[in-house]
Amino acid sequence: MYEVHKTMTVAGAHHLNLNYESRCSSLHGHNWRITVVCRVKDDGLDVNGMVVDFTDIKKIVNKFDHANLNDFVVQPTAENIAKYLYEEIPHCARIEVEETEGNKVVYEPDRD
Ligand SMILES: [Zn+2]
Repeated sequence: MYEVHKTMTVAGAHHLNLNYESRCSSLHGHNWRITVVCRVKDDGLDVNGMVVDFTDIKKIVNKFDHANLNDFVVQPTAENIAKYLYEEIPHCARIEVEETEGNKVVYEPDRD
């Protein structure tokens, strides 16, 4: 098995529609720290000898930089952002989204 880990920080705005009073309902920004883990089996490297090109991961995550995340994700909680990125990135096995220092969401598909 091979794993690629890439961590990036993007500055992105969002607001949330919540069923309780919260400051998060107003548009505001975070420096989102996002870690992407991609994984393939021993024989899964591509013709270039890679799991996935780091540049391809960067291109997908950078869509969020200086953007309004509500333009990409309907309810852009850290949880929903993690799932969105998981579905966009080839061979993705795990996404970590840290909204502020100490507040992090991890998404991995359920294991049965
Ligand atoms: Zn927020």
